[in-house]
Amino acid sequence: MYTTSMTLREAIADAEAKKVAIGHFNISNIEMLWATFHAAKRLGVPAIIGVSEGERDFIGVKQIVAIIKSIREEYNYPLYLNADHTYSFEKVKEAIDAGFDSAIYDGAKLSFEENVKVAKQCVEYARGKVSSSGAPILIESELGYIGQSSKVLDGIPEGVDLKEGLTKPEQALQFVKESGIDLFAPAVGNIHGMMRVGNDPDLDIPRIKEIRKEAGVPLVLHGGSGTTDSDFVKAIEAGISIVHISTELRVAYVNGIKKSLQENPEEVAPYKYMKLPVQEVEKVVEGRLKLFNKM
Ligand SMILES: [Zn+2]
Repeated sequence: MYTTSMTLREAIADAEAKKVAIGHFNISNIEMLWATFHAAKRLGVPAIIGVSEGERDFIGVKQIVAIIKSIREEYNYPLYLNADHTYSFEKVKEAIDAGFDSAIYDGAKLSFEENVKVAKQCVEYARGKVSSSGAPILIESELGYIGQSSKVLDGIPEGVDLKEGLTKPEQALQFVKESGIDLFAPAVGNIHGMMRVGNDPDLDIPRIKEIRKEAGVPLVLHGGSGTTDSDFVKAIEAGISIVHISTELRVAYVNGIKKSLQENPEEVAPYKYMKLPVQEVEKVVEGRLKLFNKM
């Protein structure tokens, strides 16, 4: 039985031991948060709520911390809050000070040296500080560019190289050693966003296995939307401990709103016409959590 006293680090270690992965879901508002929480609670598995710089500016940095804390305490539930893709030390610091459980410094577009330097600065700042649940704050970094936006794509994002651009195991080792980060996000064929037609590119499973071994820290798979079920299963088996899903939720949400308003054009009460989009997001989260947790 999971309780709120389990820290994020412990939840990740537990997932690794069980060869499952924790689902990380991006939200823009309380509707998507409830959809994610209800799906996780029904299945009884931990979940991470992710908010990018844009998402947390929209919700409010301190406000999202307060909401997550209130859910965690009311339901005694292991729900975690991550500051997703953060492009500067100042914004990472803001998230740490607000009480997030973890933060991702994203310097994937910078040189290796610059990326390591700022990641290290974030790690040093986070050490000794605690999240709103009293747990140590984890810092994640990315190496290898996989695109930046969570949207429906008509082609591989510009600047993504699915051959030479993939993370090399020896680079992962050097990066983790020099920066001291807790979690590592590699480029292993994954892309942010999802293809409009067909599935996303295949993941490089042997590379995941080797990177996990070399890096020595848990791995996070970004850009999960659009990846095939069988690739997810193999990637988790090979050493992925957290999987990010965003675009699929956005698509389910907006389609749900369109359908709801078409079916009830006279309805003006948001809590009524927003029920359908919430259910649609919940379905996606539930399906992904079942897959990631081998249920
Ligand atoms: Zn990402």
